[in-house]
Amino acid sequence: MEKTLSIIKPDGVARGVIGEVIKRLESNGLKIIAMKMLKMNKAQAESFYSVHKERPFFQSLTYFMTSGPIVVMVLEGENAIAGYREIMGATDHRDAAEGTIRKDFATDIEKNIVHGSDSPETAASEIGFFFNSYEVTG
Ligand code: GDP
Repeated sequence: MEKTLSIIKPDGVARGVIGEVIKRLESNGLKIIAMKMLKMNKAQAESFYSVHKERPFFQSLTYFMTSGPIVVMVLEGENAIAGYREIMGATDHRDAAEGTIRKDFATDIEKNIVHGSDSPETAASEIGFFFNSYEVTG
């Protein structure tokens, strides 16, 4: 069993697709074992995305991620990291496969509805960024 961090980004919350995203996760065998809604401040967003700090879109991305509430979840399942990334689709929605969350809902390479961890190491640190051990029920 693997755990991964999922975020429904501010555009997903604002557009009212929280339920649709969760339905797709659950119907694909991903179990939600922790969940909360919160609004990040700029320092938190910069810390969360620090791996991208040299990228030209860093300021824009971290501003966007603070622009409204987000839903953060820990997902558990077999092969959850890769499996969830497949359900999300490619970063740029124009490249995303049919039926993926980003293909169906994203409007922009940045405003792409969801985040998902990309490795076991990243998943562990991203889960720890948002949740205490007693908040993760799995
Ligand atoms: P992910 O793992 O598919 O989320 O993609 P990355 O880790 O490469 O990028 C993190 C996030 O930065 C993406 O989900 C987008 O929201 C944003 N992003 C990535 N590439 C670009 C870009 O070229 N321009 C802008 N404005 N945002 C980007």
